[in-house]
This record gives sequence, structure tokens and C-alpha cells, in this order.
Amino acid sequence: MAIPVEEYLAHLLTDVGVLGVEEVAVTRAGGRVLAQDLVARLAVPPFDNSAMDGFALRAGDAIEGMVPVVGDVPAGGRLPVPLAAGTAVRIMTGAPVPAGADCVVPVEDTDQPSGPAPLPAAIRVRSAPRPGQHVRRAGDDVAVGDVVIAGGTRLGAAALASAISIGYGRLPCHRRPRVVVVATGSELTAPGAPLGPGMIPDSNSTLIASLAEESHCEVVGVHTVPDDVGELARVLARAAAEADLIVSSGGVSAGAFDVVKELTAAAGFTFAQVAMQPGKPQGHGFVAGPDGRRTPMVTLPGNPVSVFVSFHIFVRPVLAAMEGELATPAYLRARALRGWASPAGRRQVIPVRLTPPESPEDPVPGATPTHRLGSGSHLVASLHRANALAIIPEDTTRVAAGDLVAVTLVGRF
Ligand code: AMP
Ligand code: MG
Repeated sequence: MAIPVEEYLAHLLTDVGVLGVEEVAVTRAGGRVLAQDLVARLAVPPFDNSAMDGFALRAGDAIEGMVPVVGDVPAGGRLPVPLAAGTAVRIMTGAPVPAGADCVVPVEDTDQPSGPAPLPAAIRVRSAPRPGQHVRRAGDDVAVGDVVIAGGTRLGAAALASAISIGYGRLPCHRRPRVVVVATGSELTAPGAPLGPGMIPDSNSTLIASLAEESHCEVVGVHTVPDDVGELARVLARAAAEADLIVSSGGVSAGAFDVVKELTAAAGFTFAQVAMQPGKPQGHGFVAGPDGRRTPMVTLPGNPVSVFVSFHIFVRPVLAAMEGELATPAYLRARALRGWASPAGRRQVIPVRLTPPESPEDPVPGATPTHRLGSGSHLVASLHRANALAIIPEDTTRVAAGDLVAVTLVGRF
């Protein structure tokens, strides 16, 4: 009896814990997971500042006649002196609005030319300004003490900009998982090497290592081992010493040479038939390392599409949990542009290409399987076209062109 996807994932997640915390320079923290809530040390903006190039004054002083201009607001270094009633200062976008001024009149709304020009002695304002216009108030965005970025957030470009703007130079982040990849199979040949009879190029080791890197891990070892229990045992013992997680491919089905299963079953691994297509045979457990360490290991099947799918559905959440990431994958809806078959009783996870909506009346992306054969675990050469995985429920046996399907994006996050 195959077990449901969520149930198997829940088992996997009990194998791992959250990794430790280290301080990382904010400039290098992209892709890392923040280990605690980040509280604003600075307000954003830090001071009242101008939203326009123009003149700061009191709104009431601009109503009639000429307003004398007493100077420029200096950029940086010191705050402008308070503004005397009945006067204006020239101000550029982002510069601090002097105390006493309550609005900024854009240069376009005065009798002055825009662009580089000497400081005018006085200006005429064309239309009565509103108090507060074009002034960005200190703390408009966030105030000192606000929780701005939640712990467990994976830091993208905008989050780094946010962290810097609220006063941080270093951030507490979870350590990146160290991953060792082990591809098994006596038929495997190094990339680009001539193929002997019955041999195939080893694409899985690079596939898994690259997926791990896309998931922001540190890949500390990549091994290709033949179907030989002794050799595999040696590689795994070494891997256990250096990895936080070992990910293998191949050797977990019911074949006579499925050495991963043979070796690790003896070490108490759990093997399961998961109600998923592709990626049905799965296994997990611990490899004994030196100093009594038990390093978690996930054993994926051998077919490359199964590896790709299993990585996204099982390994990625495990790695995210190790980094303390809180987000779960987002799902969107897409319109199937072609039909395909799906097996009864198994959740199909099929690589698809998402394309822009075909009409404004149907504002969802289109989804097309990356291969005309639909779902096939061996269709590795067309896999690169996938920018999403479509998730087809267990009880669906046929997706028709025009059906709405759930999809989740793949690629770097
Ligand atoms: P296995 O589960 O070990 O029997 O592997 C199933 C099939 O997946 C093999 O027959 C190969 O065609 C393919 N396969 C296994 N390992 C790799 C690999 N490292 N790279 C590419 N294809 C692989
Ligand atoms: Mg094999």
C-alpha cells in the first residue's frame, strides 16, 4: 500500500533539526534564512525629507508675492537650520526638510528653471501648496522598534535592502546545510566521456548538486559509485563525517543490484512506496559517522525526472526545515494547454512549461508538459524546459486541454 505524499514528507522531516546560527555580513546574506525577527534600529525614512526637487517653505508663505530663498539644504553631514517664517530653502529629493518648513514646492511649480542653476534670490510659487505636500515623514515606512522582517524569512534582494535601511550590517542567519551527493549505478559514465555498451551519462549527480545549490546549500561532496556495497559503504562513511544531509540517487527499487537499499536497509533505513508519480520508491535514514554522529540521508530513485520531482517535493522542504525557513511553496493555477494521462491513486507531479495567459479574459498562465509523451521519469533531456511542476490529484486520471491545474514554480528562489 503506497503512502500519501504528505505522510512520507512528515516522516522525512522528523529526521532533521534546525542548524545553528551564525552572523553574516548583510552584503553576503542573499539566499540565507534569517534566524530571528529583525527589529528596526532606524526609522525609514530616518528623517523628514523631500520627495521632489524644489523649495521647502511654510505653505501659508507661498500664497502671494515673492518668497526669499535663504540657501540650499546641504546634502548629508549636518541638518539644515530651522527655517525662518516667510523664507524658503532650495531642496533636492531625499534631503532633510528643515524644521519650520511644512511643504515642498516642486521647481516646476515656481518661476524657476529646473536643472543646474544658481541659487535664486527669491521665487514666485504658481499655485497654493498644501501643507505636507511632497514631504516624506520620518517613520512613514517603519518606526524604530517595529518588527520588519520575520525570523524564518529567506532573504531576497528586497529583504537585504530592507535590513540595511533599518540599520543592520550583519544578520543572524542559520547555517547553510552541507550536502553530499551520491549517484549510484555501475552503468554511470562521467559527463562527456565516451559511452561503453549499456552505459549512460551520469546526469543525476550534477542535477542533485545543482538543485542543492539553487536551494542555497553548500555542496561539499559529489560522488558517483558503482553498484558495489563495499564501495558505497566507504563513500557513505566519509560523507557522514562532512555532511548535514546525504542525498543519493538510484538503487532503491526492487532490482537485484539495488545496493543502496541493500546496504541502508541493514542500517535501519525506512523504504516506502509513495503515492506519487514519478518518484514512487523512496527511502530515508541515518548513516553513522565518526564521533557517534548520525547523518540523515534521503535516498531518491534513479530516473532523472523522478530525482527532479522528488527533490522539489521532499528534499527541498527538508533543506528548508534545516535552515529554519518558514515559507511553504506557493501554488498557482494554470490552464492546461494540452491533455495528458495521470495514474489513478497517485499524485502526479509533472514538469510543465508555463507561458503567459493567452487572453485577458483568462488571466492565468498556460501549462504544457515539457515532453509530448506527458509524464515519463526518463525524459531528462526535455526537463530543462520546466519552469513549474503541475500537481495532479490522486483521483484524477486524465487532464483535458482547458482544465485548471495547480502548479508550483521551480528554479532559484
Ligand atoms: P535505478 O533505480 O538505480 O535502477 O535507476 C533507474 C534508472 O535511472 C537507470 O536505469 C538509469 O537509466 C537511470 N539513472 C540512474 N542513475 C542515473 C544517473 N546518475 N544519471 C542518469 N540516469 C540515471
Ligand atoms: Mg541503479
